Amino acid sequence: MKNNKNLIPLARDIVMDHIPQLVVVLGADDLIVDVNEVAETWTGISKDEMLGKDPLQIFKEWPQFLNRMLVTEETSEEVTLPGDPIRIVELMVIPIKNKTDGKLNGRAIVAHDVTERKQAENDLTDMNEILWGKIEEVESLRAQLQEQAIRDPLTGLFNRRFFSEALEKEFSKAARENSSLSVILLDVDHFKKFNDTYGHKCGDFVLQSLAKFLNENVRKGDIICRFGGEEFVILMPNADTNAAQERAELLRKEFENMLFEYDDKKLKCTFSAGVASFPSHALQSELLLSLADQALYQSKANGRNCVTVYSAVSL
Ligand code: GH3
Ligand code: MG
Ligand code: MG
Repeated sequence: MKNNKNLIPLARDIVMDHIPQLVVVLGADDLIVDVNEVAETWTGISKDEMLGKDPLQIFKEWPQFLNRMLVTEETSEEVTLPGDPIRIVELMVIPIKNKTDGKLNGRAIVAHDVTERKQAENDLTDMNEILWGKIEEVESLRAQLQEQAIRDPLTGLFNRRFFSEALEKEFSKAARENSSLSVILLDVDHFKKFNDTYGHKCGDFVLQSLAKFLNENVRKGDIICRFGGEEFVILMPNADTNAAQERAELLRKEFENMLFEYDDKKLKCTFSAGVASFPSHALQSELLLSLADQALYQSKANGRNCVTVYSAVSL
């Protein structure tokens, strides 16, 4: 026990010089009474030179922190110390008080260099940001691909694949809700001749114009798709035969009167349409489409530029 007691001052020295933190001990007059080796390394000043000095004289870059921290309560703060290299330190000032009367006997200044840890944290944050950026990029590409998979590139309308799914969905919904569902199938008249006369590019322009026109002239919930070539389909939830026929007729008339300006030419075009509805004509989605196609065929047979509502007897 006696031996151990003698070891205590020695042990303190060992701790002082082996802990990785800078330790500076001040007396009651706030002058330096002890420093460890880390303090010597950081400052480049020997222990002997530091003893008896005001810490603000030694740690010249620290006054704004030390002044604030030399209070009676223990304080700690993470501070960035100027110099080369710039150090980020956890600076702690611990008042040393007399155990019996609580009088201030001195203070210990402890500074822990956390520059590397902070740098690693910052690197990690940067990496995280980059990673999130990449994740967002991938997500946006995925959404783009998904969108491309259901869109027709020429007109931007939904494609046939999307239409098939939408038809199934809307059909089930209409059946469930006892509502109606109509389909208008339309096909540009004599489009081959149009292409042959004015060129394929001009034909493309007409298809794009027709797509825009349809987009601007159907109800919000209606779904327009490019069914293929110069054929388009409009899926109309909650529209009965009459509503669909009226809409098709309106579209046909307006389109007939449209002038397409292309290469200084003013061109006109028409389409024919076929209409079929659930539940009036078909109780099954595929049949609904096939009946609309039959009605469209009838429109072509009747001389084109007209609308035909499916009717079993007329075929
Ligand atoms: P009908 O009145 O009987 O429908 O005659 P049509 O000439 O319109 O029909 P047909 O099926 O004989 O020809 C369709 C034409 O549509 C032929 C094809 O070159 C053209 N077409 C299909 N897709 C496109 C396209 O993306 N761009 C252009 N410019 N033409 C297309
Ligand atoms: Mg055609
Ligand atoms: Mg066609």
